Amino acid sequence: MIEPLTVPADARPRPDYLTGTKGLQIGGIEVPARSGRTFATVDPVTEQPLATVSAADAADVDAAVAAARRAFTDPAWADIAPYQRTLLLLQVADVVEANAEELAVLESLEMGCPLTQTRWMIHHCVEVFRNHAGWPTKLYGQTAPSASSQFQYVLRQPLGVVGAIAGWNGPLLQMVYKIAPALATGNTVVCKPSEHTSLSTLRFAELLAGTDLPAGVVNVVTGDGKVTGQHLMSHDDVAKVAFTGSTATGKHVLATSASNLKRVTLELGGKTPYIVFADADLEKAASICALAFCAGSGQACVAGSRIFVQEPVRDEFTELLVGAMAPYRAGLGDPFHPGTRMGPLAFRGHYERVNGYIGLATEAGGTLVTGTEPIAGGGLYVAPTLIEGLDNKSRVAQEEIFGPVSVLMGFRELDEVVDLGNDTVFGLAASVWTRDLATAHRAAARLDAGSVWINRGSQMSAGPLPFGGHKQSGLGREHGTQVLDAYTEPKSVIVELS
Ligand code: NDP
Repeated sequence: MIEPLTVPADARPRPDYLTGTKGLQIGGIEVPARSGRTFATVDPVTEQPLATVSAADAADVDAAVAAARRAFTDPAWADIAPYQRTLLLLQVADVVEANAEELAVLESLEMGCPLTQTRWMIHHCVEVFRNHAGWPTKLYGQTAPSASSQFQYVLRQPLGVVGAIAGWNGPLLQMVYKIAPALATGNTVVCKPSEHTSLSTLRFAELLAGTDLPAGVVNVVTGDGKVTGQHLMSHDDVAKVAFTGSTATGKHVLATSASNLKRVTLELGGKTPYIVFADADLEKAASICALAFCAGSGQACVAGSRIFVQEPVRDEFTELLVGAMAPYRAGLGDPFHPGTRMGPLAFRGHYERVNGYIGLATEAGGTLVTGTEPIAGGGLYVAPTLIEGLDNKSRVAQEEIFGPVSVLMGFRELDEVVDLGNDTVFGLAASVWTRDLATAHRAAARLDAGSVWINRGSQMSAGPLPFGGHKQSGLGREHGTQVLDAYTEPKSVIVELS
């Protein structure tokens, strides 16, 4: 029996921010939803309501988009010098840094992720703002070759209002991946966080009052995706949708955006293969493979949900991997317990979905190498679950589970494992473990993945490297120089000189 680590109710943090109904953030002020409707956000540890949040409908989304549209053309934002924009982004970074602990606590309370991890995510947000703060002064256009009777150049201009929609597994971080480039390039934003995790984005927008950012540049509407999100992404005054979420919703966003040909970037699901060759540092590989599907309770787009190991070392590696998973099993518990390595899943519906996949694995003939022990006290905890005996074609090996579940499979040689790794609709990331440089580079070149990590696990980019998916893992990129194209429109200007 696994006994999750617990924290007495009176020792769990209860930030003042949780009191009262949380309004929408529109035009720099907190306002209730016009309908007066609210919803409860729930603590996944206790499954009790945590805070009451306003539920925005079409009228509220219209107001937020109008505020963002006004801010977009207001000289206080539209006409500032690039260096001024840099300073504003640095101020935003500072305000997040100064309030990092409160933001991290809100995220741990709402999504159940251990505090050590939410602290990391909030500091990553600070890094992302500081990296993007460098762009405004480097956002060059082009001059074009032309006859001496003409001067031709290309301006790079912001798009307008960006609708930013994020998932619940890293709420502020996913939002900041959109807000930072949008602001660096002169756009304005309306954010729609997941209804499961609204608080950190709302609090972030409130904290912006402590910066010189003009009101209306960043707005937040909260509510159900199918209502609030749907209105935002189908709004005619929204020039671009930047979306993080499931592939199914991403396809819907893309189809809906066609109504006014919005620019769209999509960060979607994954089924990341971790590929371990026999010559790898097996101990290190096992430790990182365990981390890859246990951290965040596997609720990560880049989770290592398929592990391929070369046959000669399969038994040895499996033993090392099971050993490396032990600290996560022992560290299952309340996100505020110092020993916790894995929290509960974020909400009940998702918990049931993940358990459904584990049931499916055994029905399909798979063996649970770990994950069979019952967990005391109920709750939304799922133990680290390693499955063997399934084919890569099985549903459990093909569909995104988004829990602490991974399928271990064998392979014999490079060509075979590249085919297996690529045999999925996803193409977000891959990790390759080998001491042979030629094998590493050949695999990196041939794997269908937006990011390939050699002898390491996932490393999220805070700026320099583009991040995004091949195939059905997404469209476009966040970060890198590529992100600038996603938030600007080129304009060709021809000047007749004669
Ligand atoms: P969903 O697709 O269910 O939701 C994502 C966001 O879209 C939420 O804010 C949701 O709101 C909103 N939404 C839902 N329906 C609509 C709609 N009809 N119109 C507009 N917005 C809508 O994804 P999850 O929240 O479950 O997130 C998990 C998924 O995100 C996984 O597939 C994961 O792989 C992916 N992801 C991808 C990343 C990447 O960078 N590639 C990073 C992290 C996660 P609400 O929740 O309120 O319904």
